[in-house]
Amino acid sequence: MHIKKQRLLTPGPTPLYPPALHAMMASDMHHRTEDFRKVYSSCVAGLKEVLGTSYDTIPLVASGSGAMEASISNLFSKGDKAIVCVAGKFGERWEGIAKAYALNSVVLREEYGGTVAASRVAEALAANPDAKGVFIQASETSTGAMHDIEAVARAVAATDAILVVDGITGIGTQPLKIEEWGIDVLIGGSQKAFMIPPGLAFVTVSPKAWKRAETSDLPKYYFNLKKEAKSAAAGESSWTPATSLMLALNEALNFIKSIGPDKLIENAQLLAKAARAAAAELGLELFSPGSPGSAVTAIKAPAGMDSGVIVKGFKQRFGAIIANGQGTMKGQIFRVAHLGYFDFADLFAVIAGLELILVANGHPVKLGAGVTAVQRVYAEAAGIGV
Ligand SMILES: *Cc1c(COP(=O)(O)O)cnc(C)c1O
Repeated sequence: MHIKKQRLLTPGPTPLYPPALHAMMASDMHHRTEDFRKVYSSCVAGLKEVLGTSYDTIPLVASGSGAMEASISNLFSKGDKAIVCVAGKFGERWEGIAKAYALNSVVLREEYGGTVAASRVAEALAANPDAKGVFIQASETSTGAMHDIEAVARAVAATDAILVVDGITGIGTQPLKIEEWGIDVLIGGSQKAFMIPPGLAFVTVSPKAWKRAETSDLPKYYFNLKKEAKSAAAGESSWTPATSLMLALNEALNFIKSIGPDKLIENAQLLAKAARAAAAELGLELFSPGSPGSAVTAIKAPAGMDSGVIVKGFKQRFGAIIANGQGTMKGQIFRVAHLGYFDFADLFAVIAGLELILVANGHPVKLGAGVTAVQRVYAEAAGIGV
C-alpha cells in the first residue's frame, strides 16, 4: 500500500529495456571516431535485420513525426496528389503534414475506431491515376485499430504511387513485409517497440521511392534523406547524432535479434489477445472491435464513468501511467499497451489493478475474473493444461 513503484505503461514512451538504459552512460564519446562509427553501423545493420529489409534504412534524430515529415519533404513535389488514410489522430497528422507542404490530398476518412479498407484505397487510386503517394498508419495508436497493410500494398504496387506507412507502433506488433508486400517507406520511432527513450526515428526507402527523391522540389535542409543515406553507409550521420540513444538502440536491437523479431510480434499479439479476453470477461467494450491491433488495446470506460477516473486510479493507487484517449476520445477510453518491453507479469498486474479500480468506482466486477482470462491465454500459449 505504501510503496508504489513508478511504472510507465503507455504505448509510447514504453518501458525501457534496462541494458539499453545502462548503455547510454557510455555516451562520453565523439561521433566522428571509429568507435562510434562501429555503433552507428551496427545500429543500421540491426535495424535492417529486425525490419527484414535490404532497403536503405536511415536513422534520424527526431521523434516519429520528424520522419513522417521527412518522407513528405524528400519524396514529394509541390502540388503532388496524395491519398491520405485517416482513421484517428495519427492519420490526422499525415493530413496536417501533407497540408503544410501543400500536397493535393484526397482524404479517405473513417470514424475513430474504424479502418480504411484496402478496397477504398484501390478505388481512390483508380479514380486518381495521377496520385503520387498513399499515406497510412499500420497501427493507429489513438484508437487501437490496425490496418491491413498487405492488402493496401497490393493495391498500391500496381500504380505509380508510393506507399508510405507510419509503422511507428506497427513495427514489432504486426508483420510488415517491406519488400514482399511493397512498402516503399516504413517509418519507426525509438520510444515504441524499440524499448528505448524518445528521440530517434527510422525510415526505410525503396528504390521506387528513391526515384522520387531525384525530382522532389519541396524545401528540405535538416531532414535530407539522400545525404543521410550516404552518411549512414559510411557509419555516420550528417549532423551530430543522438549518441546516447544510438548506444541504447544497439543494445535493444541485440535483444530483439536474440529473441527474434517474429517473437517480439508474437509477444505483443498474445498480450493483446489476453487483454481483449480480460475486457470481455469484465463486460468492457473494445473501441476498435473490427480490427483490433496488438500495439495497444483501447477499451471503453463503463457507461457513466469517465476513463480519466481509471487513468487517475492507476496513478494514485499503483503509481502506474496508463494512456487516456487522445482528442475527443479523452474521457471515453483508456489504452493498455503491449508493444516492446511488456510481459505477462505486467498484464496480470494491469488487469488486477483495473478490477480494483472499477470496483472502487462503483462498477462491480468479480475480482479475479479478468486476471483469470489473462492466465488462460498464458496457459494455452505456454502449454499448461488448465
Ligand atoms: C507515437 C506515434 C507517432 C509519432 O509521434 P511522435 O510524438 O512524433 O514520436 C506517429 N504515429 C503513430 C501511430 C504513433 O503511435
